[in-house]
Order: sequence, then C-alpha cells, then structure tokens
Amino acid sequence: MVMEAADYVIAGGGSAGCVIASRLSEDPNIRVVLLEAGGPGNGLFATMPSGSYKLLGKPHADWMYMTEPDPSLNGRRAMWNAGRMLGGGSAINGMMYIRGSRADYDSWEKDLGCEGWGWNAVQTYFKKSEGFDGAPSQSHSTEGPLGVALPREIHPLSRAFVEACGEAGLRKVEDYCAGDIDGAFLAFVTQRNGQRSSTARAFLEDAMKRPNLTVITGAMVDKVLIENGRATGVQFVKDGQTQVVEARREVVVSASSMQSPAILLRSGIGPAAELQAMGIEVKVDAPDVGKNLQEHASVQTSVIVDLPTINTRMGTLGVFKGVLQYFLLKRGIMTVTPVESMAFLRSSPDLELPDIKLQFGPMAMDPATRKPHAKPGVVVYANVAKPRSRGEIRLRSTNPLDTPVIDHRLLGDPGDVSALIRGLKIVDGILHSPSFAKHLKGRIAPPELPKDDAAWEDRIRNTAGIGYHPVGTCRMGGDAGSVVDPRLRVRGVSGLRVADGSVMPIMPSANTNAPAIMVGEKAADMIREDAAR
Ligand SMILES: Cc1cc2nc3c(=O)[nH]c(=O)nc-3n(C[C@H](O)[C@H](O)[C@H](O)COP(=O)(O)OP(=O)(O)OC[C@H]3O[C@@H](n4cnc5c(N)ncnc54)[C@H](O)[C@@H]3O)c2cc1C
Repeated sequence: MVMEAADYVIAGGGSAGCVIASRLSEDPNIRVVLLEAGGPGNGLFATMPSGSYKLLGKPHADWMYMTEPDPSLNGRRAMWNAGRMLGGGSAINGMMYIRGSRADYDSWEKDLGCEGWGWNAVQTYFKKSEGFDGAPSQSHSTEGPLGVALPREIHPLSRAFVEACGEAGLRKVEDYCAGDIDGAFLAFVTQRNGQRSSTARAFLEDAMKRPNLTVITGAMVDKVLIENGRATGVQFVKDGQTQVVEARREVVVSASSMQSPAILLRSGIGPAAELQAMGIEVKVDAPDVGKNLQEHASVQTSVIVDLPTINTRMGTLGVFKGVLQYFLLKRGIMTVTPVESMAFLRSSPDLELPDIKLQFGPMAMDPATRKPHAKPGVVVYANVAKPRSRGEIRLRSTNPLDTPVIDHRLLGDPGDVSALIRGLKIVDGILHSPSFAKHLKGRIAPPELPKDDAAWEDRIRNTAGIGYHPVGTCRMGGDAGSVVDPRLRVRGVSGLRVADGSVMPIMPSANTNAPAIMVGEKAADMIREDAAR
C-alpha cells in the first residue's frame, strides 16, 4: 500500500527525530511524515518523572535489547534498555541534562573533519532547544521548548558529594553548560514545572496540530527505498501490513544507534560481504555501517548513610504522599531523578582532560535482591568518559521485527579497565572526604575494598553495567569511509540522511540525550539550508 507522498519522511521519533519533525514542519508548505515504531508516549508515567520506573522493562515502552555474551564482562549478557515510543530515550531516561565539553566537539571538527560541529557551532543548537528555568546567559536560553531546570528536590547528600569532591582536589564548576565540565556540580534535568520534558512533549505536542505533519505510531520501518542512487521513500510495517510512504525530497533516519544502522543495512547500505550473506542487494558498500559502537561501561559504588534516601522513602506511605504532592504541587519524591550531582576527574594527574565521569544519586539498591536497599544509601556510578572499547551492530535477519545483534566488548580495551580501577579508588577517597565521611555508615558495594588491582579488575568485569548511551554506529566524518558526511548525508546515496546518536563519531564527555537533541536541531537547519540552495 502506498501512502500519499511527503517532502520529508523521518524514520524514528526519539530524542532527535521529534526535533527534526517539529522543526521541518514549522514551514506550512512542507509536508512531513514521522514514522515511530512505538506508541504515542503519553500518559502519567511518561510525564511524571519517576514514572519511567514503571516503563523500563515493559515491552510496549522499552526495546529491552539483549547483547551477545560479552567476553570482556566474563561472558555476561546485558539488557540495553531504550525508549520505544514518541520521545524515544527522552521519554524513559534519567533526565540528566549535560552537553559535554568544548574539547569534545572541537575535536570532532579538528581531528575528524566534522566541519561545522565545533563547540561554538553546536552550542548555538544546544541553546536553541533550551527553555532554561533560570536567567538567560551566554550559555543558557529560556526561549526553547525543552525544559531544563535544577531538580525540584535536591538531597542534602548530593550537595555534600560536590563539597567532598572539592575536598578531594576537584574544582567546583560554576556553569557546566558553558563547555567546561572539569570538576563537580549539581546537574540540571530535562523537566518543566516538575514534569518530564521529553522531545515528544517539548517539540511534538503542539507541532502535531499542524496539518502538514503526520505522525504514524506503531510503524516499524523496514527499509529506505533507493532508486538510481536516490532515496525515494520508506517501507514500513504497521498492523501486519507492509506500507510505503514516498519522499519527494529526503528521508531522515533517526532510529537510534541500534536501529539506524539496522535500517541502513536492510536498505542495502553496509559492508558488502555482510549484506550478501543475508541475501540483501548491495546498493552501497559502506563498511563502517554498524561499526564503532561506543557505550559507557558503568560501575557502581554504594554506601549506607545516616539520612533517609529515595530507597527508604519509597514505602507505601511514602509513595502515597509523593503522588499526592506531585498532583497538587508537582514537587516531592515523584519528581526526583536517579542522579543529582556529577563530577569529571582525571584518573591520573598527567592527563590533559578528565577521563572519568561520576554520577551521584541518593538511592541505593541491594546487590543481592536488586531491589531498593532496606537501609538509606547512595550510589556513585563511574564511567570512562570517552570509552576506547568498541563493538558493533549487525542484522539478525532481514525481518524488521527482529532486533539487531549487539556485539560489544564493553571493557574490551584494557585502558578503559585501568582508568576505572584508578577512578574507583578516587571515588572511595571522595566518599571519605570530610563533607561526606560524616554521613557514612558502611559499605554496600563493594562490601569491602578489593585488595589489589587484580581484585579490582575482577569486580569491574563481574559487575559493570551499561550507561544507556550507545553512539557511533553511523559515524559522521570528513573521511570517505565515514557513514555520513558532516551534513549528515549518507555517502553514496542522495536524498538520505541519518540524524541521531548514531552519527556521533566519538562519545562526548556526557550523557547523550542533549547531544542527540542538538544533532536533531542542527540536522533540521542543514536540511532547510540545503533545500534553499
Ligand atoms: C534508561 C535510560 C536512561 C538514560 N538516561 C539518560 C540521562 O539521564 N541523560 C541523558 O542525557 N541521556 C540518557 N539516556 C540516553 C538518551 O536518552 C539517548 O542517548 C537518546 O535518547 C538517544 O536519542 P536518539 O534520537 O539517538 O535515539 P532514541 O531516542 O532512542 O530514538 C529512536 C526512536 O526510533 C524508534 N525506532 C527504532 N527503530 C525503529 C524502526 N525500525 N522504525 C520506526 N521507529 C523506530 C524508537 O522507538 C525511538 O523512539 C538514557 C537512556 C536510557 C534508555
């Protein structure tokens, strides 16, 4: 079945896709179709910040991808959660708002040939999205649709953590959205008036009233149709029916680091041998499609403390009170996020830039039961800020309903492991610095400090989880081997772009929601500029 044609067809309505659909449809003369595999992403759990705990692990809202057994994690497999609804990751994530550092994006431009993606350029797009709940400044805008604010409730220990970082020798960062993340700070969240600001809510809700934007949910994109080297439309499956929407101008693939490469592969864009082995006609031999997968390996340190924390406030009475407070005031425990403060540090003093990212949250889980700990506790997640380990995405089959193969070596690079060992020792030092030490009542994980580096490595490989930040699988670059060029055009096909986390060539020192939204903003601008030429 062939639908009416659109000027632009966007495959995937997540953090980036909703932004692109909204921005392109600002012009009433342009017809836009957005195809999203999941549902509309509305309802209480998608707006109440703590509601994501009810969405994670539910197949209607979460892709729940399983990785292949990972030898670098002693053969463990991991579940990679990912938002499956309008808003994508932004509808289900931890809401931390962070952009990364000047050095991250300047390096994309200078070292990788991503012209136009240096810090000064991308900062314009971070600001374009931002509706900051504070005074406008050089680095913050109050005009954009995306709510950015300090959490409505900040736990005293989140502030104590920032103080303790200072006592352990880290800087306090005044405004970490200005390109300098070197030190400790309280983190902003993507919320407006105590409610989650997903891209579905922030960018799409009003845009969906426009007659020139059609949003189709429950539409699983199979492939991009390519004729004579040009993308002409998108084939998708909805309610068991295969349908096609034609694209008069361009197709934009924004289906995430897991699914954007899968869509390209099914379309015949990828490593020729891999495609042939699947019986897919090769349209473009693009060896890097699906490669260069990067993810933050995350290792937890949790301790018992002397003040009530989220895990002990979530009993029946606490939840009842929290829900009431949320409905009446949009405040209280239902508006909290899993992480409230952050720090970037050097695991070794000779490093030019910080290499370890810390996230502090006033909530501890019991490692044995994986349920909230019975005693008040806090957690520090440590990640290698810019992991060196790489993995890849491949097709499991040509069936679009089959999730892709995720083959990662999350800790495949020994440099990542040694950085984590050094970083985790520093975390212990921070927790024992005066401002925090006075609250410490005991250890949860690890129950005692590993005795030597071999024991630390064991702990890391046995317990590391994911950071929920996969990027890089349709990497942008100035080189001919990159999947997309710096205007996000897929090399070898005209009328086709990729715009989402998958184009980030190297992980910024950041969680990846704001960067993906920035990619969406910049993509929409480039599409409009190129159309006007
Ligand atoms: C549990 C969790 C917590 C996180 N916490 C944070 C945080 O606190 N801060 C932060 O900055 N980042 C966080 N992230 C990461 C961040 O949300 C993602 O990096 C970001 O959402 C990625 O944006 P994207 O546009 O690349 O992909 P997505 O937002 O994942 O969008 C892809 C969209 O495409 C759809 N799709 C996929 N395949 C198809 C198909 N074949 N056809 C049609 N549609 C398809 C998906 O359903 C989805 O809606 C978290 C992520 C998760 C999962």
